[in-house]
Amino acid sequence: MNAIITGAARGIGAEISTLLCESGYNVVINYRTSENEAKELCRRLNSAGGKAVAVKADVSIPEEAEYLFDAAHSNFGSVDLLVNNAGIAQQKLFTDITQSDYDRMFDCNVRSVFNCCQLALRDMIHEKYGRIINIASMWGICGASCEVHYSTSKAAVIGLTKALAKETAPSGITVNCIAPGVIDTPMNSGFDEETMNELREETPVGRIGSPYDVARAVLFLADKKSSFITGQVLGVDGGFI
Ligand code: NAP
Repeated sequence: MNAIITGAARGIGAEISTLLCESGYNVVINYRTSENEAKELCRRLNSAGGKAVAVKADVSIPEEAEYLFDAAHSNFGSVDLLVNNAGIAQQKLFTDITQSDYDRMFDCNVRSVFNCCQLALRDMIHEKYGRIINIASMWGICGASCEVHYSTSKAAVIGLTKALAKETAPSGITVNCIAPGVIDTPMNSGFDEETMNELREETPVGRIGSPYDVARAVLFLADKKSSFITGQVLGVDGGFI
């Protein structure tokens, strides 16, 4: 099985790549700027006996996304599993969000998913099999103050997932998303200690999530036997919502 994981040099994407590779998937680790981390992850996975390649591409740009899929084809063959994990966040008052903040958010969080789904489906429809897993966010369901454009972009990913799932189900392709809660990654490094403690207290299980918590859910949805689960939003949020 061949998997592409976008934005996979660090954080949640790196953990998803590691778990998939350890579970026997050939993994394409996509990165945009974190070249050293991506190459080091790739080296680690290959020296442990896995099969991994790192490919640089800004997946919000159609030509670069196409390059990523070409690289996957030449290294491993057709793509069975796409994990749309790449994303950005930004904290700002709604009234301060600029047009370019909004465009950047939607390019990285939504257009990237649109681009990669279209490319993956070329293989998947032909094979009459595929798994697409989009990493959304609990904020796309319940909304976050000072993250209106982020929350809106993640709600769009949920909408895309549900609609695409209906369209591709007859072709043996499932499309699901995961809505993580607060996860310990560089994305949250801007939050101070007090904010992180508040978020921990608001999380019923009493801890911040780990990238591994999310990766476990990806592995479950990616399984061939998860074929009756599609168009779903799986919360991995410690009971937050
Ligand atoms: P992260 O550590 O900041 O990693 C995100 C990665 O996405 C970065 O390494 C970045 O690549 C990549 N990326 C962004 N835009 C890209 C683009 N246009 N093309 C290719 N790669 C791109 O964040 P994370 O926490 O692991 O987040 C992973 C996903 O989980 C995101 O979609 C995020 O919204 C979602 N999520 C996170 C949390 C959380 O609490 N951490 C909660 C809910 C949902 P480079 O570094 O190579 O530039």
